[in-house]
Amino acid sequence: MLATILDGNKIRDEIQAELLQQVADLKRRGVTPGLAAVLVGDNPASQIYVRSKVQASETLGLYSQKIEPSKNSTTEELLGLVHSLNQDERIDGILIQLPLPPQVDSRRVLNTVDPAKDVDGFHSVNLGNLVAGRPGFVPCTPAGILEILKRSKIPLSGARAVVIGRSDIVGKPVAMLLLHEHATVTICHSRTRDLPAVARQADILVAAIGKAAFVTAEFIKPGATVIDVGINRLTTQEEVRNVFHDPASRLETLAKRGSVLVGDVQPEDARSIAGAFTPVPGGVGPLTVIMLMSNTIKAARQRRAVAGG
Ligand code: NAD
Repeated sequence: MLATILDGNKIRDEIQAELLQQVADLKRRGVTPGLAAVLVGDNPASQIYVRSKVQASETLGLYSQKIEPSKNSTTEELLGLVHSLNQDERIDGILIQLPLPPQVDSRRVLNTVDPAKDVDGFHSVNLGNLVAGRPGFVPCTPAGILEILKRSKIPLSGARAVVIGRSDIVGKPVAMLLLHEHATVTICHSRTRDLPAVARQADILVAAIGKAAFVTAEFIKPGATVIDVGINRLTTQEEVRNVFHDPASRLETLAKRGSVLVGDVQPEDARSIAGAFTPVPGGVGPLTVIMLMSNTIKAARQRRAVAGG
C-alpha cells in the first residue's frame, strides 16, 4: 500500500483559518499584532523567505514592517535597530532572517531581541524554556512539524523517534518537542555509526540534513512516519537522474523551471515503504511560515495582556 501524503498546505490552511479568527478577536479589542522582518544582505533564498513571511502577515491582516539594513551593517548597528524594535509598541514579533553577514555576531543580535518578541524562538531564554518544557516561543519549523504530527493523529507517546540532524534551528528543538510528547528520541548526525540501521528503528523519522534524497529505502521502517525537512535544488539532468528512479516528469520540470526541488528523503522510497510522509514541496515548508504568524499573534496577546494569551 502506498504511504499517506501528509499535506502541509491543507494543515496550513486549517491553522490559518483559526488564526484569522484570533486576529479578528484581537482587532475587536483594538489590538493589531505587528511583525518586523529584518533582512540584511541580498541572499536570494532569504529574500524569498522574507517575502513569503511579509505576505502571510498581510493575508492575516497583521501590521508588518520589512527592514533592510545595508549588507555592510556592523553588529553595533544591528543591535541599535533591535533595541529600537524592542521599544516599538506597534511591533509584537521581531524576525531576524538568518544567515546574517559574516562580520555580524549573530548570537549577540539574536540575544538582544526582547524574549517576549522573539517569535523565531532563537533567544537563549526561549531555547532554555524549550529544553525545560516551560512556556515560551518555539522555533517555527519544529513547531510546524509537531502540528503536522498531532493534526494527522500520529501516535507520539512511547513511539521511537529518530531525528537526523542536530542544528539549533531544526534538529535539536524538534527532538526536544518529541521528547516532551513522550517519544523515545535519538538524535543522529554526521558522525553517527550505521545511520541506516538506527533510522530503521524509527516509528517517526525526521530528516533535517540538507542533502538531496539522502534518506533512502534502507533508512525507512515499513509503515513509519517520515518527516522531510530538507529543501534542496537539483539543477542538472545528471543530478535528477541520480536521485529519481523514474525521472521523466522531473526532467520536464527541470527543462521548464531550471531546477527541481527535492527534500532530504528519496520521495519514491518514502511513498512505497513509509506509512505516511511529508512531500517536498508542500510538506513542512508551509507550516514554518504559518507558525511564525501563530507566534506573532501569541506574542501580541501576551504582551498586550489580552485574556487567553
Ligand atoms: P544544518 O546544515 O544547520 O544542519 C544539518 C545537520 O545535518 C547537521 O547537524 C549535521 O550533523 C547533519 N548532517 C550533515 N551531513 C550528515 C550526514 N552525512 N549524515 C548524518 N547527518 C548529517 O541544516 P538545518 O538548518 O537544520 O536545515 C536542514 C535542512 O532543512 C536544509 O535542507 C534546510 O534548507 C531545510 N530547512 C527547511 C525548513 C522548512 O521550512 N522546510 C526550515 C529550516 C531548514
